[in-house]
Amino acid sequence: MSGTLGGKKWTAKAERPWMSDTEEFPFLECALQKPAVNVKKMENLKIKVEWKVTEMKEKQKQKQKQKLTEKWKHTEKTDAKELGLLRQCLGPGCVYPTRPGSKYCSDDCGMKLAADRIYRILPQRIQQWQKSPCIAEEQGKKMLERIHREQQDIHTRLKDIECHFHELEAIILRGKQQAVCSDEEVNGNDRNSVNLQIFCVSCGESVSMHVALRHMERCFAKYECKMSFGSMYPTCIEGATRLFCDVYNPKSKRYCKRLQVLCPEHSRDNKISDDEVCGCPLVHNVFEVTGNFCCLPKRLCNLHYCWEKLRRAEVDLERIRALHKLEELVEQEHKVRTAMTNRAGLLALMLHQTIQHDPLTTDLRSKVDS
Ligand SMILES: [Zn+2]
Ligand SMILES: [Zn+2]
Ligand SMILES: [Zn+2]
Ligand SMILES: [Zn+2]
Repeated sequence: MSGTLGGKKWTAKAERPWMSDTEEFPFLECALQKPAVNVKKMENLKIKVEWKVTEMKEKQKQKQKQKLTEKWKHTEKTDAKELGLLRQCLGPGCVYPTRPGSKYCSDDCGMKLAADRIYRILPQRIQQWQKSPCIAEEQGKKMLERIHREQQDIHTRLKDIECHFHELEAIILRGKQQAVCSDEEVNGNDRNSVNLQIFCVSCGESVSMHVALRHMERCFAKYECKMSFGSMYPTCIEGATRLFCDVYNPKSKRYCKRLQVLCPEHSRDNKISDDEVCGCPLVHNVFEVTGNFCCLPKRLCNLHYCWEKLRRAEVDLERIRALHKLEELVEQEHKVRTAMTNRAGLLALMLHQTIQHDPLTTDLRSKVDS
């Protein structure tokens, strides 16, 4: 800025796009603190600020300008020394002195300069940006590809598990249709087994081996009932049947998040009738399915106590795991996508500049030795 002391004219100030003056731009200042502001948001903010300024300060500004020119005329007459302390407004083409503690005569001038800056610098920056390939962008694309692949894998896995789910239900149904064998056979089986004692994992009591499963299951349910696992929201998963218990507890205002088939708090085991068959598929060497079913009466079969419940829980747990993984992947994808859209935003382009000194090197990162 230049001005002739005591003279009559101030030259219109030269463009100073690099001058920092965030105190004059409330929108710029807040944007600086938040680097990932998108262009649209900033534009809105700017419009808001401008609107506010024009709305509220229109009259005030005119009064101010009048005052300033009067003051200016006054100082022109009085003291050349005092005049030297006055600074010219940085606003484009503005010849008025600044307000105290500011670089501009009015908010309007500050806004004008900011807009000028954007118009002048941004096109250059965009060109510069497009000249060199963005490594982060390429990495982002690769990451998205990987995420999509994983998503597809999980989807096929989910389908498999869903098949498994239906298979299991079919097996359970077939098991139920088996004929119950006579009581004598049952008693004969019982007599052959040695009466061993085992300690219950929940209560520590010594129980007979052949009722151990039954006892432990009940014992566990008794203790489990005393706790609640809840969340504020009910589960809503598209197309999923029977996953979480989701019973609402009005006291704690929470939905139960145990597996539905395993929740002892909200589901009572049905009374087993005398003629109900166990129907557990029998296996040879633990894993080989023989195609036969256990034909003992359900209330007497200690070996397969609650087998349907446990098998169902196993499948449901697998489904939940897969769904969790899917959700995680969606989150990851969202993160990568936001990073990609925020890259080369208005603010980032205005604030950062990459200079490529060597035309051959396009990857400008420093190499990490491996
Ligand atoms: Zn001005
Ligand atoms: Zn016990
Ligand atoms: Zn429950
Ligand atoms: Zn059985």
